[in-house]
Amino acid sequence: MLHYRSIRMRIAIPFVLLIVVATAGLALYLSHYFREAYLETLETRLLADLRVVGDYLPAQLAADVSGGSDLDATARHYSSLLDARVTFIAADGVVLGESDHDRTTMENHLYRPEIQQALDQGSGSSIRYSVTARTEVIYVAIALDETAAPVRIARLALPLAEVQAELARLNRTIFSTAAIAVTFAIALALLIASRTTSPVRQLKVMAQQVAAGNLDARLLPTTQDEVGQLTRAFNIMAENLQDKLNALTTEQSRSSSILDHMADGVLVLDLDGVVQMLNPAAARILAVTPEAAPGSTFSALVRHHRLIELWLRCQRSQQEQQEAVEIDHGKGTFLQVIITPQQTPSAPGYLVIVQDLTRIRRLETIRRDFISNVSHELRTPLASLSALVETLQDGALEDPTMAQRFLSHMERELAAMTQIVEELLELSRIESNRAPFFMQSTPIATLISVPVERMLPQASRAGLSLATELPDSLPPVLADAERIQQVLINLLHNAIKFTPAGGAITVSARGAADKVIIAVRDTGVGIAEEELSRIFERFYKADRARSSGGTGLGLAIAKHIIQAHRGQIWVESVEGRGSTFYFSLPVAQGIS
Ligand code: ADP
Repeated sequence: MLHYRSIRMRIAIPFVLLIVVATAGLALYLSHYFREAYLETLETRLLADLRVVGDYLPAQLAADVSGGSDLDATARHYSSLLDARVTFIAADGVVLGESDHDRTTMENHLYRPEIQQALDQGSGSSIRYSVTARTEVIYVAIALDETAAPVRIARLALPLAEVQAELARLNRTIFSTAAIAVTFAIALALLIASRTTSPVRQLKVMAQQVAAGNLDARLLPTTQDEVGQLTRAFNIMAENLQDKLNALTTEQSRSSSILDHMADGVLVLDLDGVVQMLNPAAARILAVTPEAAPGSTFSALVRHHRLIELWLRCQRSQQEQQEAVEIDHGKGTFLQVIITPQQTPSAPGYLVIVQDLTRIRRLETIRRDFISNVSHELRTPLASLSALVETLQDGALEDPTMAQRFLSHMERELAAMTQIVEELLELSRIESNRAPFFMQSTPIATLISVPVERMLPQASRAGLSLATELPDSLPPVLADAERIQQVLINLLHNAIKFTPAGGAITVSARGAADKVIIAVRDTGVGIAEEELSRIFERFYKADRARSSGGTGLGLAIAKHIIQAHRGQIWVESVEGRGSTFYFSLPVAQGIS
């Protein structure tokens, strides 16, 4: 690419111009010099010839004139001797003898420059165009002494046609040599310019690559000069740039992975509140699609007046603002939102942190409810205990039958309290993983037969049938037999409690994929639909079961035991027609 603005051409063109001008000047000078030198030599030679002749010409001419012979013949004689035109001229300019032309037609020659010079200085010369010869002619003339009278001047004339042909040949040689020299010089100039600028061009290509983002581009510095130093500096620059970029990329991927995995929502807003970036947690908490959010405003995104006010407050005051808000995206989310102005000059805006406190809130509620439930459950037996103690103190102690009745009442209340406390302890032990589980491969029959046998007397006392339905080929499950039996006792206990006399209770089991599902079915009162989701909560008792005793902890304990087995527990029920409690246990691996 030979563009005239490229460094190569900017170096080459002045050199080429210089070479062309210098060579052309030299050629012209040489051509001129050679012509002058040639003509001077010619003139000197002609003059010398003329002078040689001039030494004995006067005697000859004098003899001719006195003998009355024609001077033209003498002129012709000398002309053939000297190989040039010869003219004899009188002191007044009249032509007296002429070798090549008709003398009579020739005009007076007094004012020809060479004649004037010869009259003045003894000899003269001139080069001019001759109309007679139709070419340039060199004339030389000398003055003869008085012995030659009436001839005063002898003149030689030589047409330059031949000379000029020779000079033209010389010129051709000079100019063609110059042209060849110029061609070589131009080629050399281009080559030198190209060689000198080649590292610069390579550097340019590398710089373009770096600019296009290819930071791996490097050049080996080949020279020690400025270009080599520039290449080295450029390599270092590219390396530094790459290091910086790598560090930045690492930093960026680190922070983006932090942002992606943190539980808190983070949004970056510009000065106008347009979302520049948000992390997955923010999208999840605010229930928006992560792709659609950037570009929309914070207000449009949160759709909540208190959060919009919070953001406007922050924008106005340029101070950090914080607010806890309950927003309803269908499930009552409780959020804590902190908006901080960012003063970074490169990207001023706002940083929004959104924390989802719903779970913490719910746990707090559960804890509060639990405490109030425990106190509530304990208050009733405590109140009746203190009433009984008071009655005894007031004199009932004196009456042994009465005292006996009160004492057994007190015993019942204490037993109820003890059961609550024991069950709570048990629940907390299981929940906090302090109760050890001895998991082993256990046949289903073992799990079911013990509780059924134990509960059989109670069932028949209540006028209920209790049956077992067990398919033959059930795989053993991985279970702590004692705990699962405890769960089944709880379920059977409930079934007996909530089934009127004449009903039937069935315990069954079936295999399903890699687990076994055990079911306890009764034909009892059933559970209202709105209560189904709550009966596994601690202390939950259906209203009509309030009077039936029980702590409301049995199903909560059962749920924890089953969960510790990596199983599930659930219930199906139709009010008035009975309930079925199911739980699943994983099949013991490797044993079938
Ligand atoms: P409790 O020890 O008081 O029986 P549970 O946690 O075992 O407490 O049961 C919680 C509630 O679930 C009971 O109060 C009752 O309303 C309901 N329930 C449990 N089992 C049955 C059942 N088989 N039939 C009807 N309701 C039941």
